[in-house]
Amino acid sequence: MKIFHEIAPLRATLRDAGRVVLVPTMGNLHEGHIRLMHDARKHGDKVVATVFVNRLQFRPGEDFDKYPRTLAADAKCLEDAGVEYLFAPSEDVMYPTPQYFHVDVPDQLATILEGEFRPGHFRGVATVVMKLFQIVQPDAALFGKKDYQQMLVLSGLVREFNLPIEVIAGDTIRAEDGLALSSRNGFLSASERQEAPRLHRLLMDLVARIQAGERDFAKLEAVVMDQLRKNGWSPDYVAVRRRADLQVPLGDDPLVVVAAAKLGTTRLIDNVEI
Ligand code: AMP
Repeated sequence: MKIFHEIAPLRATLRDAGRVVLVPTMGNLHEGHIRLMHDARKHGDKVVATVFVNRLQFRPGEDFDKYPRTLAADAKCLEDAGVEYLFAPSEDVMYPTPQYFHVDVPDQLATILEGEFRPGHFRGVATVVMKLFQIVQPDAALFGKKDYQQMLVLSGLVREFNLPIEVIAGDTIRAEDGLALSSRNGFLSASERQEAPRLHRLLMDLVARIQAGERDFAKLEAVVMDQLRKNGWSPDYVAVRRRADLQVPLGDDPLVVVAAAKLGTTRLIDNVEI
């Protein structure tokens, strides 16, 4: 695997690399990321993984400073997964001057759910991914459904700016006990790690009740919020929404339940398609 820290040599190498598939990450890679790399392999000739902890998508007081940076281990994982190219830019390479231009994410997606609790987050995500798209100029890009709202933001970005990139969504990869894999799971204490799968279990119970015909979504959401609180969590939201745009469902649209909650100081998100 070739590792690049600068843009020009990466671009020169990719010029005749065939069909290029991009998988952006913030590093501290786990099995969920690696599965995306394997999926990427099926969609092109060369896989480009990126590792960059993007300051723009963190708010003051969030975990930017303590976000785990493990580049040497990440490079080894990517090499073992058969990834051809790793782009791991410094902050100076990505933001040589302050970033004055941003991608403006529409309010109906940017200010709900994750956006309500992390204002400006999706603007930071969309801006860095737009930059990575311009740097790598991939034919396809993979994003995980674990970050459902992010996946919708980035599909919308590609669609509305007519970018010639195929967006592919990867399924959420979970630990055996159901906990969605996340770099933030490493922040959990041993007892929190034991408690953490409750979030997924409660979402699965909610899904089962909807599949059994229950339609009072507000009541079902409140039950999950209540159960989380009783078990020491601080939930931000639990919401049954339309898969297509995460708006409140009206008719028979395909649904997804999305949730975010803090366990101790660690904020976990999860979702299940219904
Ligand atoms: P991150 O490094 O957390 O920014 O994630 C990089 C990419 O990996 C994003 O597209 C995430 O949605 C995806 N991802 C992270 N965790 C998982 C998981 N457990 N299953 C599937 N995709 C994931």
